[in-house]
Formats: sequence, structure tokens, C-alpha cells
Amino acid sequence: MTLSTPAASSTDSTQSSPLLDFTNVAMTFPNGTTALSGIDLKVERGEFVSVVGPSGCGKSTLLRIASGLEVASEGAAEVNTTRIGYVFQDATLLPWRDVQSNVELLAELNWQPKRVRVPKAKWAIDLVGLTGFEKNLPKQLSGGMRMRTSLARSLTLDPELFLFDEPFGALDEITRERLNDELLKLFVEQQFAGLFITHSVSEAIYLSTKVVVMSGRPGHLVDTFDIPFDMPRSPEIRYTGEFAKLVGEVSHALREGHS
Ligand code: ADP
Repeated sequence: MTLSTPAASSTDSTQSSPLLDFTNVAMTFPNGTTALSGIDLKVERGEFVSVVGPSGCGKSTLLRIASGLEVASEGAAEVNTTRIGYVFQDATLLPWRDVQSNVELLAELNWQPKRVRVPKAKWAIDLVGLTGFEKNLPKQLSGGMRMRTSLARSLTLDPELFLFDEPFGALDEITRERLNDELLKLFVEQQFAGLFITHSVSEAIYLSTKVVVMSGRPGHLVDTFDIPFDMPRSPEIRYTGEFAKLVGEVSHALREGHS
């Protein structure tokens, strides 16, 4: 699938084209609010790109355009894959379904037969470390476990491009760091590309191959940082001088873009 704005031209889905390719994307809502302007952003295979920016600068709008939930008012917003995973700020689980059947949900909506989706869900549940909790209802899970369930549900679709809208923002620091480690492991093993929205500069640097900084509304990109740490990453890189220096540089760009 190629999702594109009315102003965009379609491109063929090929191995070489970026999975996400935004050129001069802008978004003005019908009420006149301009959320985004002049966004040029690519996510290539093998990349994990985080977007940091102040509240209300248009980060979620950017992700909604990438997912096809919203159509940009200007520019070319190309997504060159049909295999898109989406994890929201809220785990969005169905409260009456247990972990197993919540994880099966997307596969079920995609008409996958039971004999395919049941083992696929078991595989995804295992990947996120929830084996043994298949029969638990969402209310019987911690916040971190609910997020893992949400991740597993998207993994059943074998996404090539994973979109994350501040998935760990509501979690405590320790749980968030643990989930960051697990997400990095999944990124290395499952080889999806990622576009990750976060408020946290250190989370962005730890997870990403590239961090882009957005200005205040209307959001545009003010800086891009290539993150030099190899994958897989060890949690200890968070305590290195090089990491602290990057946190300082990205935070400075954020402040400059906001003023
Ligand atoms: P962020 O995710 O960075 O906090 P959002 O993308 O949610 O920002 O919103 C960017 C701006 O666009 C905000 O000012 C918000 O109020 C506005 N906005 C978001 N969705 C709509 C909409 N459907 N209609 C009008 N304005 C909207």
C-alpha cells in the first residue's frame, strides 16, 4: 500500500524506497489550526527514528498521517508498505477479552483463520515475555503488561514499519526502562523500522538510530541527530559521557526550537 496525500504522487513499493517518505508535509485542520508545516522526514529500513518536541507541536498528528488515520493538507506523505504496526499511548485492549484473544484481535480482523492466528499470538506473547498470562484479563495486568499485550497484538501482523505514539509515557521509570530494553531487542530481532514519538530525550536517544527535534506549533523539524551507538545496545550506555553529551545537545535543540 502507498498512503499518500491528495497532493502526493504514488510510488512503487520497492525494497529500496524508504518505508516512510514525507516531503513538505503540512496539516491545517478545518478549524484553521495549523499543526504541522514543511515536514521532510524519511524512515528507511533498519532505522528507528524518534521524534521529540513540546506538547501540542503536532507529533501525534504526524503519526496519524503516517498511519493513514489523517490525510495531510499539503505535501507528499508516502508510506511504502502495508505492514504497519501502531502502538498508542493507551494500550487500547478490549476489557472483556483475555491476553490471548486481545493479541489475536488484529489477525482476526484480517481474516486469519484460527489455526494461523492462535500460534501466531502465542509466538508474539512469548516475544513480549507474557507467556503464562494468556488467560488474564486486562484488569488483571500491570500497566507495563498491558503495553506488552498491545505490542504483541501489533507484532502478529509482522510489521515492516512500527509507529509508536508515546507508548511508555504513563509508566514508571523502571518499567519504562525495562520496556525500552525489550523494544530494542525486538527491533534487532524482528527487523522492523520504527517511528517513535516521545517527550523523553533520553528514551529517544537510547532507542534510536536517529532523533529528530520538532519546534513548537506549527511543528517543523529543527534538528536531526544521528545516534552513534551500535545495536544491540547495553543499558549501561545511558551512563556514559557520550550519552550525556547527546542528551545535552538534543535538549538544547528542543529549547531553541521552542523559544
Ligand atoms: P502533540 O502530539 O505534539 O502533543 P498533536 O498532534 O496532538 O500534538 O496536536 C497538535 C495541535 O493540533 C494541537 O494544538 C491540537 O490541539 C491540534 N489538533 C489536533 N487534532 C486536531 C483536530 N482534529 N482538529 C483541530 N485541531 C487539532
